[in-house]
Amino acid sequence: MEKVTNNAYKAHCLVLSYPTQGHLNPMLEFSKRLEHKGVKVTLVTTRSMSKTIHKEASSIALETISDGFDEGGIAHAESIQAYLERFWQVGSQTLAELLEKLSSSSSGNPVDCIVYDAFLPWALDVAKKFGLVGAVFFTQSCAVDNIYYHVHKGLLKLPLSEPEILLPGLPPLQPQDMPSLIYDLNTYPAFFDMLVSQFSNVDKADWVLCNTLYELEPEVVDWMTEIWPLRTIGPTIPSMYLDKRIEDDKDYGFCIFEPNSDTCMKWLNDHAKGSVIYVSFGSLAALNAEQMEELAWGLRMSNSYFLWVVRASEEAKLPKNFVEETSEKGLVVHWCPQLEVLTHEAVGCFVTHCGWNSTLEALSFGVPMVAVPQWTDQPTNAKYIMDVWKMGLKAPADENGLVKREAIENCIKEIMEGERGKEIVKNAYRWKTLAKEAVDQGGSSDKNIEEFVTKLVHS
Ligand code: UDP
Repeated sequence: MEKVTNNAYKAHCLVLSYPTQGHLNPMLEFSKRLEHKGVKVTLVTTRSMSKTIHKEASSIALETISDGFDEGGIAHAESIQAYLERFWQVGSQTLAELLEKLSSSSSGNPVDCIVYDAFLPWALDVAKKFGLVGAVFFTQSCAVDNIYYHVHKGLLKLPLSEPEILLPGLPPLQPQDMPSLIYDLNTYPAFFDMLVSQFSNVDKADWVLCNTLYELEPEVVDWMTEIWPLRTIGPTIPSMYLDKRIEDDKDYGFCIFEPNSDTCMKWLNDHAKGSVIYVSFGSLAALNAEQMEELAWGLRMSNSYFLWVVRASEEAKLPKNFVEETSEKGLVVHWCPQLEVLTHEAVGCFVTHCGWNSTLEALSFGVPMVAVPQWTDQPTNAKYIMDVWKMGLKAPADENGLVKREAIENCIKEIMEGERGKEIVKNAYRWKTLAKEAVDQGGSSDKNIEEFVTKLVHS
């Protein structure tokens, strides 16, 4: 990365992330794009999160604020609601203290702007108190954002009562295509409130940044851009996997879990092109034991090679002796370097929970997906993967929400050997090209980031 001396920075942004891997990754990558364009960035996360991340090579400065639970974060709060309320209160206060500290330090780079995670709308109040530019950063797709916006406005009545939901810029959706917090209102009411509250003060934000690319969801982006100064800036994937303009940007750089990199890559190197199924449910999803068993059997019945990420906290749910009995066919690890895995030529298909980062990564690398969504925005992402981007198949669930072994097996076989697989591979090439173009010089996202930086400098 081109190094910029302190006083040559065009502006200084604080980038404040909600403390999970899926939020930190995109905000960190956006930070690197800003730094590449000459803006100084200080990434801000919580003290509890900073204790668990392995900071690999990253040029971005890191500062912390408090969520009120410095020792263990949300896991130490009595409830999700209690956590979010305390985060609001203590977070606002410690963010203000951080701004004061940075403005009185001798670095010579006063803060101009706060780019804040849409999950933390109170950060805009702090930004405005300090007379700073406030840019909200949405880490989910625009389609999902638009659904929550309609709930916030009271334009989408809950509980859902229609068999088909029609919203501007979106394809017709069935209730089960909606974010789980919406079609199943009783599951996580505090998270539901947080998602809807993303829009509580969005009208006052100077910028609305979304981690998507225009070409993926043009209708909804156009519709939302009529309401706010919305700009698409994604996909936020390390540059060396896409446009290769930021030379030292080969990895996200902050990792909550330590990857079994050598084991995974050596194992993949021993397998033929397109022969391996990569399976991961991200950093948070917890499958119930029955679902884990069905998935395990589905993989086995597919008769394909598989690399399966089962986090240490999930391991006990694996069927007895599964790892030993399938060791000829499969490798099970606690965490892997997902970008390296998805771009390895041995990988032919990705069985995914459809977290937004994983979805964007697979789209950007042209890896066909078997969608097994679990909760929050994942069902909506799965709908788009199958029916809009035609980049994969959604494994059907039974009336209890269980995806049976045969469904997993069939989807894998269809993608690896069937006619639909061929069509999906063709589409995959298109998305891969479009993703790279979006962040490359003059692409839709690159132009938007350029505009953001230019206006920041002149504000
Ligand atoms: N990831 C990884 N190694 C793994 C599994 C996941 O590096 O073994 C990364 C993945 O590349 C993605 C992030 O973790 O960037 C997960 O984010 P996502 O939005 O897909 O899911 P979440 O964890 O938020 O549910």
